[in-house]
Amino acid sequence: MSKRLILLGATGSIGTSTVDVVRTHPDDFRIVAVSALHSKEKCEALAREFGAKAYVGEDAALRAVEENDADICLVATVGMSGLSPTVAAIEKGMDVALATKEVMVMAGELVTALAKQKGVKFLPVDSEHSAIFQCIQGVGVGGRSTKEIDKLILTASGGPFFDGPEDLSAVTVAEALNHPRWKMGPKVTIDSSTMMNKGFEILEARWLFDVPVKDIEVVVHPESVVHSLVTFVDGSTIAQLCPPDMRVPIQYALSWPERLPAERAKLDLAALAKLTFREPDPVRFPCLRLVKEACEAGGCATAVLAAADEWAVDAFIKGKIKYTDIAKTVEETLAKAPRFEMTSLDAVFEANEWTLRRLKG
Ligand code: MG
Repeated sequence: MSKRLILLGATGSIGTSTVDVVRTHPDDFRIVAVSALHSKEKCEALAREFGAKAYVGEDAALRAVEENDADICLVATVGMSGLSPTVAAIEKGMDVALATKEVMVMAGELVTALAKQKGVKFLPVDSEHSAIFQCIQGVGVGGRSTKEIDKLILTASGGPFFDGPEDLSAVTVAEALNHPRWKMGPKVTIDSSTMMNKGFEILEARWLFDVPVKDIEVVVHPESVVHSLVTFVDGSTIAQLCPPDMRVPIQYALSWPERLPAERAKLDLAALAKLTFREPDPVRFPCLRLVKEACEAGGCATAVLAAADEWAVDAFIKGKIKYTDIAKTVEETLAKAPRFEMTSLDAVFEANEWTLRRLKG
């Protein structure tokens, strides 16, 4: 029986890998709707190929969810735009394969509660969260009982600036966009270079797996072969390994709880010879600390963090601020933000609007 999919952000990096997975498993998955923000021709070509409906523009993702029914909605839009369509998909009873981590960063508490209430599942698409999800299969009912988990260990490639240059203030946009391991869109690539992306992943893991932030660690692993690990209370650690290829976690999110065969490179440990792990540098990469502080502050502070980061990354790409001003902007905005209680999605949007007004003003 094939699963029906709605694919939001169909023309981006995750969307393209998802389409590839569906092409190799035409009997298992059927795309019913695709959305894109700008790439009209590419989006319409995909729709023709799969006999799906195409949605393009600002509200395309939300309309694609509202006007179609599916088993899984894969959310791979950029940044905060993923929140409303995710909520709409949950309301309609679809499982959500989540690539847009800002959804959990901004409103993890609300969307996970809503998903529980509606009886729908979040299926992680990010390589790290897919790894954890794979490591905890069989832990408690549906892999969600956390009392056996001692800690989650997220691996990070370290990005382009892990070993240099010493002074990051002169980093150019081209340098920041040159990620050593993964080919991704500009927002997530810049976030990877500042390690804000890893901070977002801490928050995403916190909500997806219901593990407190204090029990989530980050380790730098430049080879990007171990995608994350889980240490259990009995002292065992389980890791998930595979060559860096986003089609692996995407396919698992779509095929779960089954695994489907795929013709792609498998791990060759002898050829790799060694895997290395190092501690992240909290001074060079202050974003990890900012994420933890925002989380401790509670309320909508992580939504302010996400909004300030989205603005700052855009400003850096446009040449308006220096690379090191990204973290500074986020820190200053968090320090000035009033407290917004996370009572509803409206509160999240209010925190977002306050942040953008302040930064644009
Ligand atoms: Mg990741």
